[in-house]
Amino acid sequence: MTAKTASPTSDAPTGRPWTCPFCPLSCDGFSLADAPRPTLVDSDCPRATAALSHFAAVLASATARIDGRAADHRSAVAAAAAILAASRQPLFAGLATDVAGMRALYRLANGCGAILDHANGDALMHSTRALQDRGVFYTTLAEIRNRADLVVCLGTNASDHYPEFFRRTAPAADAPERHVVFVGANADTAAPGLGGVTVEEIGLAGNVFDTVALLAARLAGRRMASSDPALDALVARMLGARYTVVVWESGSLPAHGALVAETIQRIVNTLNRTTRAAAFCLGGGDGGYTANQVTTWLSGLPLRTGVHKRGLVHEPQRYATAQLLAHRAVDAVLWVSAFTPELAPPATDLPLVVLGHPGLEAATRANTVFIPVSTPGIGSAGHLFRADGGVVLPLAPIYEDTLPGVADVAGDIASRLAASEGGAR
Ligand code: SF4
Repeated sequence: MTAKTASPTSDAPTGRPWTCPFCPLSCDGFSLADAPRPTLVDSDCPRATAALSHFAAVLASATARIDGRAADHRSAVAAAAAILAASRQPLFAGLATDVAGMRALYRLANGCGAILDHANGDALMHSTRALQDRGVFYTTLAEIRNRADLVVCLGTNASDHYPEFFRRTAPAADAPERHVVFVGANADTAAPGLGGVTVEEIGLAGNVFDTVALLAARLAGRRMASSDPALDALVARMLGARYTVVVWESGSLPAHGALVAETIQRIVNTLNRTTRAAAFCLGGGDGGYTANQVTTWLSGLPLRTGVHKRGLVHEPQRYATAQLLAHRAVDAVLWVSAFTPELAPPATDLPLVVLGHPGLEAATRANTVFIPVSTPGIGSAGHLFRADGGVVLPLAPIYEDTLPGVADVAGDIASRLAASEGGAR
């Protein structure tokens, strides 16, 4: 996936201001034209374009389904509550929703002792483990724009999956000159925002683990048996820069990527002894950062936590969705995918509740209660955490659709669950 700079013409459509909910950069500088279908006006970001293709210009409507057969909302809520009530250990997964949706899901998890994991949980855990083990030193999009004179993209070209990253971080008018080094990745020099900076590509020294370890060792002044001229030059450049930003992409790392994340923090720490440096993690898509932040502020623990009746349990590996399903450690799944029909639930024969985009194929599955939900930023208002952590952006709908939000549906299921438990007492 690559992005090219849009070239607006005099007859280009004009649109309304809009905040894009389809990746954690949460671009809020582009506008959206409504007809004939929602279209970005001043960016041709392929990620947003693909996501918008799943929405029409008019309000969405869809029907709930039980085992593939149409059902009214009330019956579907009752069937979902019955599945959770019968479950000894439910899993809430996917979790692609906004702040209000995640808050309501957490309350529902409290009511039935569910385990919480996100669809991108493996990638999220890389950065979460680094934070837990060593602490992290991250920067913001604005800080990169205003201060960074050296950006080192480690193992990612950034623009493939985050097409507007370089435009969002392009040097401000009074910012220092910028040099961008791609380590183990090919630069997409046509990416918007990359035009005004000098770009360099160097290879990995073996794999990404070896490369960050070598960089960390050389920056710390350790003598090495062999030398790598390209890495040595990068070390000299980093030590001489006024503000280095190391960009990495959590979803591109293999298993045990937390080791890379931790070593990047070591690099940043070393640089901060003599100059200034920070890291920037590209990740947290499909509401991943939002789900993790909300879970953490409500429980004190990140995702992959079980809100069990006996107390909270955080298991970063054991509570991975794939692990739990493979070991039959859960007996029901509630899957949430409010942004796209492409984030499908895992294949499972367990009872499944899906709160999702109306286009999800799971709507017609057997053994499934499907309740269509509104997409924040398209059919309803909402809030999402941006990639740089502490920034929460409000989302405005482009139309008010007829579908309930995840928060509404989770609240309805929780009420039904509480009512059935009250009746059983
Ligand atoms: S880069 Fe991300 S937030 Fe920005 S327009 Fe593309 S998909 Fe949307």
